[in-house]
Order: sequence, then structure tokens, then C-alpha cells
Amino acid sequence: MSPQPPDPQELAARLSGGDRSALARAITLVESTRTEHRKLAAELLQACLPRTGKAIRLGISGVPGVGKSTTIDQLGVDLTADGRKVAVLAVDPSSSRSGGSILGDKTRMSRLSMDPQAYVRPSPSAGTLGGVAARTRETMLLCEAAGFDVVIVETVGTGQSETSVADMVDTFLVLMLPGAGDELQGIKKGILELADIIAINKAEGENRQRAQNAAAEYIAALKILMPRVKEWQPPVLTVSGLAGEGLDKLWSEVERHRDVTQAAGAFEKTRADQQVKWLWTMLEDRMLGRLTRDRDMKAKIRELEAQVRSGETAATMAVESIMARLGD
Ligand code: GDP
Repeated sequence: MSPQPPDPQELAARLSGGDRSALARAITLVESTRTEHRKLAAELLQACLPRTGKAIRLGISGVPGVGKSTTIDQLGVDLTADGRKVAVLAVDPSSSRSGGSILGDKTRMSRLSMDPQAYVRPSPSAGTLGGVAARTRETMLLCEAAGFDVVIVETVGTGQSETSVADMVDTFLVLMLPGAGDELQGIKKGILELADIIAINKAEGENRQRAQNAAAEYIAALKILMPRVKEWQPPVLTVSGLAGEGLDKLWSEVERHRDVTQAAGAFEKTRADQQVKWLWTMLEDRMLGRLTRDRDMKAKIRELEAQVRSGETAATMAVESIMARLGD
């Protein structure tokens, strides 16, 4: 971040003109944890708001190695060839540890990263999952304001990050590997509940039959779950990200999901619920942050924590004395 902070209104104006350097600057601003930048970032997002919300927001999840980046690379170049502007963002809670994921993501999606109609942004590396997810959500809005009409948010298949991503997209796609039937037992039920579309990847050559068997099992497993939107039974597809097979069908299912949920009234409701949930998540984060930033308060909480641990003070009483300190 340059020492001279950007003017949010001016940045928003440049962004809406599709200026790439303005987008990069805007993202740096929303990713900044400095208090003064946070206020500017809020102003920037407010200024961008009228231009947001028009993109197709697609989440893609799956275990490492399932073929997320291969599939996104292929799907992404298909979409840009079709005249769309595609942004790819990542929520990877592990990237704060590994660092330097920029190179990783560029090489992982080699064609899309070179595509002038696409923008590939690696996971912000700072902070907790909550922080990373919040920045990604804000980055998504900035990309929309900059005119991207498809925003793909990629995440690895770990519980909390999947939920965070499902909470910011319209359609949540889960990639699976073709496997023997018993593999299905290892799948967490939670992920099936989040999925709007399931795609069994690597379904080419000798894998094709296994993938179809796996698809049949997922279809059976999904039948016993209550669909989140009653008008939408999640389809199970077979694709090959590497060979580019089945991706047309996959994309048409993404669009069909949007159409069906819009017609059912679930689309707008989900987006509105997501906004409100986001408000509360941020508020909780900030309030908690405030509690623990105050040094006296922090010391007091530590002391009470020790007393609760030793059984000297009841947890209820500890909360009462903390709240009393806040004037409650
Ligand atoms: P990610 O970790 O989920 O992003 O997975 P990658 O896209 O990096 O893919 C992991 C490995 O699987 C790479 O060696 C890919 O070439 C391979 N792979 C990805 N998609 C396919 C596919 O459709 N078929 C086959 N056979 N291999 C694939």
C-alpha cells in the first residue's frame, strides 16, 4: 500500500471503467487491516454497491487433487471465449501458512491467468479464515463493480471454508473423484447438504464407468436429503476438466440453477440472507476484537478465564463481571 491512501470515490469511478490497476489497488485496500484503510474500504464498497450483484457467483470446492484448478482453467477459457469476463478468487485457509500462493495460482491456472478477459486472484494470505473469507467477499463485489460477469470462488474441501464460500455464492459446486462405492461412506454429509451441483471429475477413458457408478451413488445419497430449495434437486454430472468434457453441460446447470431459484424466489432471498449474515459475522468479529484489544479488559478476561478453569468462578459469573465492566 502506498503511503498516500487512495480516494475511495475516485477509485470507485476508475474501477467501474474497468481499470485493472484500480481493481488491484481497490483489492489491496480492502485486504488492508489498518484502521484508517478499513474506513476507506467501507466507503469504497458503498460507492461500488450500485454496480454489484449482477455476476453469476459460483463456488467450487473439492479435496486437493480433485482437479479444481484444471477444471476452472478450462471452464474459464470457455467462458471468456464466449465473451464473458471471469474472475477467480480463492479462499484457502492454508495459504497463510504456505505464503507465496500467487505463483502457485498462476501456474495452476496457466491459460486463464494469461487471458485478458480473466482475473485470477490468489487467496489473501493474512488472518483467520473469517478474515480471509470477508476479504474474498469484498473482492467479489469489487470484481462485479469492475464489470466481471462471472465470479468463481474456489476453496479446498475443509468444513469451515466450504461453509464460508457457500455463504457468499449463488451456486455451490462440489467436485468429487470417481471412486469405489465404499468411498461414499467417507463423504461428510455436510458437503452434500451444501452442494447445488455435484460433478464427478476425471471421468474420461477407463475412469468413465467408475465415474458413472459414483454418480449413481451420489444421486441415491442425495435423494434421502431434504433439498435446500424444494424446486431444485442437485444434479450429479460426470466431467473431465482435463479433457474439457462435460463442461458445457456443467455450465448450463449453473445457469439453470440460477433460473430455477430466481423463479422460485429463493435467489434474492438467499442473497439478502447472506448479506445479513455477513453483517452479523463482521459485527461479532469487530466486537470481539474490541474486547480483546483493550489491555485492561484483556488482562481481566485472562484472570477470569483462569478462575473458571480452576473452578473458582462459574462461567456465568465471569460473563456477568465482564459485561458489568462494559457498563451492561
Ligand atoms: P486441485 O488441487 O483440486 O486444484 O487439482 P488440480 O487441478 O491441480 O489437479 C490435480 C491433478 O489431477 C493434476 O495432475 C491434474 O492434471 C489432474 N487432473 C485434473 N483434472 C483431471 C481430469 O479431468 N482427468 C484426469 N485424468 N486428470 C485430471
